[in-house]
Amino acid sequence: MSNHQELLTGWGNTAPSLADVVRPRNEEEVTTDLQNAPGSLIARGLGRSYGDAAQCAGGTVLSNRGLWNLTPIDPLTGLVTVGAGVSLDELVSISIPAGWFIPVTPGTRQVTIGGAIAADIHGKNHHVDGSFMNHVRSIRLATPTGTLTITPESEPELFWATAGAMGLTGVVIDATVQMIPIETSYISVDTERFPNLDATMAAMASGDDDYRYSVAWVDCMTAGASMGRGVITRGDHAPKSMLEGKQTRHPLSPPASTKLAVPFTPPSGLLNRLSIKAFNEAWFRKSPKKRDGEIQSLGTFFHPLDGVDWWNRLHGHRGFLQYQFVVSDAHGDVVTKAIELLSSQKVPSFLAVLKRFGPHNPGPLSFPMKGWTLALDIPIGPPQLAGVLDQLDLMVGEAGGRLYLAKDSRLSPQQFRAMYPQLGEFERIRKTIDPQGLLASDLSRRLGIS
Ligand SMILES: Cc1cc2nc3c(=O)[nH]c(=O)nc-3n(C[C@H](O)[C@H](O)[C@H](O)COP(=O)(O)OP(=O)(O)OC[C@H]3O[C@@H](n4cnc5c(N)ncnc54)[C@H](O)[C@@H]3O)c2cc1C
Repeated sequence: MSNHQELLTGWGNTAPSLADVVRPRNEEEVTTDLQNAPGSLIARGLGRSYGDAAQCAGGTVLSNRGLWNLTPIDPLTGLVTVGAGVSLDELVSISIPAGWFIPVTPGTRQVTIGGAIAADIHGKNHHVDGSFMNHVRSIRLATPTGTLTITPESEPELFWATAGAMGLTGVVIDATVQMIPIETSYISVDTERFPNLDATMAAMASGDDDYRYSVAWVDCMTAGASMGRGVITRGDHAPKSMLEGKQTRHPLSPPASTKLAVPFTPPSGLLNRLSIKAFNEAWFRKSPKKRDGEIQSLGTFFHPLDGVDWWNRLHGHRGFLQYQFVVSDAHGDVVTKAIELLSSQKVPSFLAVLKRFGPHNPGPLSFPMKGWTLALDIPIGPPQLAGVLDQLDLMVGEAGGRLYLAKDSRLSPQQFRAMYPQLGEFERIRKTIDPQGLLASDLSRRLGIS
């Protein structure tokens, strides 16, 4: 256990705050840290949430990376018990050669098990498999009132309250996760380009159910007839029979490690309206009009951004934010209106990713719910940005939708309460394990989560 002050930010590099950082190595040290914290405390993983969820100004931030243990995967059941500080990258490096894959993966492998549970992360398969907590069988959770093992059967309220609670129900020590069997480390991918948003959304609504994984990249920089043109990539795990050549010799290879990195943060971002427009044009043109059955590695399909370490630095010192919302199928028009608003207000978005979600799980703060989710990476800078995002908050809230806390850095407490109607239930459960309100983060203070 060591202790020093650090200036911390999220992946978006905005709103830094100073905290004492502790690095416990086991349950006993976590308990000591919870007891000795002079003020508030929050856990932190690899800092891949975009905003202020893993920060605690003036308090204690508990790095989970010392909580590192990884038992072998049970070859019969596919269950694995993993320390909260193990990253998905580290987990798949041992699971893939053994023929198992993580049930849900976000767009990067550089997130920890603790972070995956705290955000109840989702992937390209939410419409089929749900979110991460749907595959967690038990959690060892250290709370200010003691450590307990929670399962959906033994402690359903606390278990589901922990899904998407952003660390506010306690420190995850480890968890048992149900992995999925795979024959190969490849995905059979179908790619198709669509001339505008309506065509992209219609194709997703009618065709996504035929695939386990689906995602669309959407161009938010075009207007008129090609507004929101998109490229849909969908796929399923490839069986051995689909592999050819070199792939057949190593059908279960873990993803290659990253070789490139952005070494420093340039003073002003390299990603601006012009460079993003040029990138989007090139991306759309390079995508095939239609290609079926392409064999891609798991890394290429799920984690293309992991090819370059610290790519977030490309946004410069001002940083960037990600705005991700979900709305029900009945309010799919909010996706169109959001892209129209960004395009008409000339707010650039580097990456716009559209997915379909399946049903919500019982987690009161878990983000996914049935419908459409759009995620937009936006550089900080345009003076009109704050007003445009406030307008979007209103549109999403009025449609009964919500923003993803793992990406949020700016939502107001009023909008947050309106978007998460089960917040009262969450606060009631939280009081039972943290009556003094020890667990708090910059995000929980900003949103007024008591
Ligand atoms: C490039 C990129 C792509 C992404 N794509 C997706 C995506 O497709 N889907 C998706 O759902 N998310 C996505 N994310 C977001 C990311 O999955 C989440 O923010 C995740 O929580 C980050 O994990 P972390 O280990 O970095 O945690 P941190 O960012 O360090 O912390 C996130 C939250 O977890 C809590 N936490 C961390 N460890 C513990 C613990 N041991 N116990 C209790 N609480 C803990 C923290 O308090 C904080 O509230 C993406 C992020 C990036 C950078």
